[in-house]
Parts: sequence; structure tokens; C-alpha cells
Amino acid sequence: MPLTLYVVAEQGALGSAISSQRTTADLEKIADDIEPIWAQADVVFDPLLIREIQMPTEVLQELVLTGGFEEFFAQAGRTFEVPDAGMINGFYLREAFEFNGFTPNGSLVFFVADEPTVLDERVSSHEIGHILGLAHDPNDPTRLMFSGTNGTVLTEAEQQRARATALEILGQTSDSSLPVTIENNGGSLEGHTPRGFAGMGSGLFAGDNLNSGFPNDDGVQAWLTFDLPTGPDTPTSAVLSTDSLVEQGSPFDDLGNLMVEPVQYEEFSADLFDLEAAGEASICEPLGDGRMECDVTDSVAAASAAGQQRVQFRLKFDRVGDGDGSQDLALFFLTDSNTNEPGIFHLELS
Ligand SMILES: [Zn+2]
Repeated sequence: MPLTLYVVAEQGALGSAISSQRTTADLEKIADDIEPIWAQADVVFDPLLIREIQMPTEVLQELVLTGGFEEFFAQAGRTFEVPDAGMINGFYLREAFEFNGFTPNGSLVFFVADEPTVLDERVSSHEIGHILGLAHDPNDPTRLMFSGTNGTVLTEAEQQRARATALEILGQTSDSSLPVTIENNGGSLEGHTPRGFAGMGSGLFAGDNLNSGFPNDDGVQAWLTFDLPTGPDTPTSAVLSTDSLVEQGSPFDDLGNLMVEPVQYEEFSADLFDLEAAGEASICEPLGDGRMECDVTDSVAAASAAGQQRVQFRLKFDRVGDGDGSQDLALFFLTDSNTNEPGIFHLELS
């Protein structure tokens, strides 16, 4: 499971009296040394990252002098950034109050002092033990969860418990955990392309007769991009939806079904019009009140299984035009019809 270890220094005062004296090389060594201890339970730390972090003086003082971590949690991500956070994060402090190390209850964070009274790898492994659901053992000093010794033994029961907790944490906090709803990326990979006119625009439109300057029957297609969550989970259901459909004219009556097709493109351009689809099309259902849903399970599952980082879709009606000379458009927007932005569409993965 992902683990990141941090050498903690005082912000703007490297080498100060409350900055850790450790180096990233010291943490590399600790990382190497905890590996065999946790191998007992088949827990592997990957990716394992070593970073330096600077914290505001007040936050660091609280941690060092009183073991007060509330301010740390309150300020993390606000007054200081925690780079490359793992699932478990270890912070190496000049001092950790009177402790060798400590783990705030129920958190995935531990703190370790510069000069613990026991081996470095033992302190770090012991704190990780708490994070993985293990309690102290009062009887056997050879065990990892006995307090204040260099014991490293994990019993069979502890190994099982730690593994189970690790899997639980992976499921709960992983990027890939389902269900999840993601928004269209709203960037330069989205917009519309009309037929028979070397143009494009950022508004999300599908239909016919974009405006009076366009030749009759020159349909328009909308293009969407979603960044997929990373991770091993392949969704068994994917629904593309919006609450922002506005109809201009009568596109659903005149142009047939609105179809969604998976597509793949690197750059959004006028050339995309009628780009060959990368998979089967499916029908989008307008449900009233601006709501529309399309089942895109097959294409998203295929993209996810293939490790693709994004999925892209084209929306187009069955018929490019109906020859009636008037506008028949489905427009999708939140405020300004000529813009795409995140949140116009959602992709619900479960
Ligand atoms: Zn403990």
C-alpha cells in the first residue's frame, strides 16, 4: 500500500532547533528496514516515497512540544502542502513530545521523533501497526506491538488483522474505489464540430442548423472528455448524465435518437466531425426537466480495463438534418451556452 515518509522542517527556517535533523537518506534506510518486518504480514509498501516538508512554526511547535496534532490536521493542505500523500503518511519530527512515536487514533498518519529510545525501523513499524488496527501487547517483549522494545514479531492473528485492515483502507481511500461520480473535464478537449464548415466551438451542441449562417442540414456534434480515476477497479455500470439539456426547436422529434459513441482523439479540432467511433453507440434518454441519461457501461469498462486515463464521447443525432430549414438543437450548458465547463455532464461509475 502507498506509504510516504516526510522529513519535517520549520517553514523558512531549515536547520532550526525544531526542524528534524534527519536526511532523506536516513528515511530511505528506515524504509528499507521496515520492509522485512511488514513482510511477515505480506504487507508491501508501494509506492514508497520519501519527501521533505516544511510546516509553519506554530503547527510544528504544537507537535514537538505537546504532541498536539489537531492543528496539524486543521492546517494540512491549507497553510502548508503535504506533497505526494500516500495512504499512510509518516512524519519525522525533531521531537514528538515525550514519545518515540505516536499515531492519532483512527488516522492514517504517524509521527516519529529524531532520537527514539528504540530502533528507528521498530518505531515506524510499530506505529504502522497501530494504523493497521493492532493494539498493544503487554506480555511479550519480542513482539512488535509490545511498548518500548525492539521486538518485531507479529503473531498469526496480528498478521491477519493487519492485512485485513490494509485491504479495507485500500478499498476506502483508493482513488479507484467505486462508486464514484466524475465531471466532464470542461477543457480544450471538448466542444462542438459542425459538418461542411471548417469550424468548431467550445459550446456543447448536437443537432442541425447551428445558426442562420450555416447551410441547412449541416449537423453538429458534441464532444466530451472525462479523466478516469486511477486504479484497478473496473466499473460494472457507467451512466453518462446531465441536468443541463436545453432544446432549441424539436431535435428529438425531427432528428431521431441522440446517440453517444466512444471516441478517441488527442486534440479537439474541426476535423473530428464524423470521426470513426471506437465502440458501440448507445441511446441517450431525455427524461424531462433538462435531465438526460445514457448507458455507457461497455465503453467505459473497456477503457478502464485497458488502463486508459480518460474516456471521450461524441453526441450526435441519428440524422444529420431534417431539411426543415430551422434550428433543431440539443444544447448543454450551465450558464453560457457557448462554453463547456466541468459539471455539465457527469459520469457515474459503480
Ligand atoms: Zn504503541
